[in-house]
Amino acid sequence: MHSPERLAELVRGVGMTSQRTRDRMVERLAAQGIRDPRVKETLAREPRHLFLDEALAHRAYEDTSLPIGHGQTLSQPWIVARMTELVLQEAPERVLEVGTGSGYQTLILSRLVPELWSIERINALHRRAAERLRLLGARNLHLRLADGGHGWEEAAPFDVILLTACASELPTALLAQLAGGGVLITPLADARGRQWLTRVQRQGDQFERRRLEPVRFVPLLEGVIR
Ligand code: SAH
Repeated sequence: MHSPERLAELVRGVGMTSQRTRDRMVERLAAQGIRDPRVKETLAREPRHLFLDEALAHRAYEDTSLPIGHGQTLSQPWIVARMTELVLQEAPERVLEVGTGSGYQTLILSRLVPELWSIERINALHRRAAERLRLLGARNLHLRLADGGHGWEEAAPFDVILLTACASELPTALLAQLAGGGVLITPLADARGRQWLTRVQRQGDQFERRRLEPVRFVPLLEGVIR
């Protein structure tokens, strides 16, 4: 783990390091179908390597998920780009993310949406992400240590709710915190345990579900680890 001092040092060096590798990552993402220029610009600019332990930082721009400790993973760049595109398609004002993890997806979203709330259930990850995001100057962002399955009642309703961990059923508390016309984007496991990126749109009391592509995420779990 970076000490806060080391992280601050690395943040000051942002832009000096890895720009070429980042550009190549974004070229690969574009070739894989990522179109939104806002997503491409943001991924090309933001320092993904600062969201990993120093020993793994050199692999930050490979198209792969990477361990962040506590059995959790930083999602692969493609999935971050894809989910960010799906979020932006809704032109949302208020977005809730469940599963802050390293905070990388959080940083990307915070640069692109007006106001963002993000919940993590593992205290060590929550604190580390909060420190990084503060040092990187993320704004209009609210972080909380909690079980995200219950959502963030006081801040609801949300135009988009994004889960970065896989549920086996749609969490009803989250559906209830969607605004009218709002969208929940989540990996969802089918009866055979295969995971699908799924988009659920609220229309009054109806929830229209659309299955997108197969994905692989860590599971959505209950409770808080302090
Ligand atoms: N977007 C993150 C993904 C991290 S993996 C990143 O790219 O770094 C998914 C995260 O969801 C993990 O940190 C895990 O602890 C968290 N998580 C799982 N269940 C949760 C829940 N019920 N509430 C909040 N966070 C949860």
